[in-house]
Amino acid sequence: MKTDGRTRTCGLIGNPVEHTLSPVIHNTLAEDFSHNLVYVPFRVDAERVEDAVKGAYALNILGCNVTVPHKSAVIPFLKEIDPMAEKIGAVNTLVRTEGGFKGYNTDLPGLYRAMVSDGITIEGEQILMLGAGGVARAAAMLMADKGAKRIVIINRTVSKAQTLAEEIKTFYPEVILEAAGLDELSRFSEKKAYIAIQATNIGMYPKCDETLIDNPEFYEAIHTGYDMIFNPADTKFMQLVREHGGKAYNGLKMLLYQGVIAYELWNNVQVSNSQADFIYEKMKQNG
Ligand code: NAP
Repeated sequence: MKTDGRTRTCGLIGNPVEHTLSPVIHNTLAEDFSHNLVYVPFRVDAERVEDAVKGAYALNILGCNVTVPHKSAVIPFLKEIDPMAEKIGAVNTLVRTEGGFKGYNTDLPGLYRAMVSDGITIEGEQILMLGAGGVARAAAMLMADKGAKRIVIINRTVSKAQTLAEEIKTFYPEVILEAAGLDELSRFSEKKAYIAIQATNIGMYPKCDETLIDNPEFYEAIHTGYDMIFNPADTKFMQLVREHGGKAYNGLKMLLYQGVIAYELWNNVQVSNSQADFIYEKMKQNG
């Protein structure tokens, strides 16, 4: 990678950032488009988020991704926020504009592009959302926005699931929204009736043998399982979905497309399917 006086910088604000795959996405795209751009990780402590956002702007940085735990903390320091990111309350992409950064959430359209590319339809579907954290919230908003008929938020802490269900209902009153605890799974026994989205941390490397739910009847009810986790590439949740006759996908494509959409926003370009496929293969090798 050649750098000179005209090289633009983009980066990732988060903590930790050491295991990120985002440089693979953005530096590959920069090379492919022949853009004079470099993407680097920036580890930022919680008490320095304001300094980081203002400092990045002062340093003429073109754009940043934002990851855990700063996705909400950056919001007060932005000049503007995209309406969908505001609704979700989380920003994962900062785009340089006149006078400050504008915040977007590309996790959401990233998940949508990943699902479309895997041939998954959301309209009219019943969704079981496992988890009620930041990613579950964004994914549930997306499902409601794309016409899911019914969304059930299932979480260890039922009160969080209830709060999330009520909040989404205020934005999407036409969608049936429910909350459930892990002891209420027998309510969902209709065979192959649901898409399940696994949005908890359970099953992440190195605890690859764990899964939030191991009850076989639960998996009989699922026709498609989407795990937000991408390390390991084949989670226990995905294995159980497949063993009971469903289709299963991991979160790597979502990660790919949230990055692709951020790159498109920063550089005003359109990334082709073949470019995305090429990066996806590279991410699999680096993951
Ligand atoms: P978060 O806000 O911390 O939420 C964590 C969720 O997991 C909560 O619902 C929590 O339940 C549940 N949970 C955690 N430990 C549990 C346990 N021992 N037993 C039962 N439930 C437990 O996390 P997040 O930011 O939403 O991230 C969730 C997952 O998405 C992570 O695995 C992350 O790697 C993945 N992710 C993927 C992408 C991608 O591009 N593919 C992007 C971002 C994140 P309680 O409410 O009961 O605590």
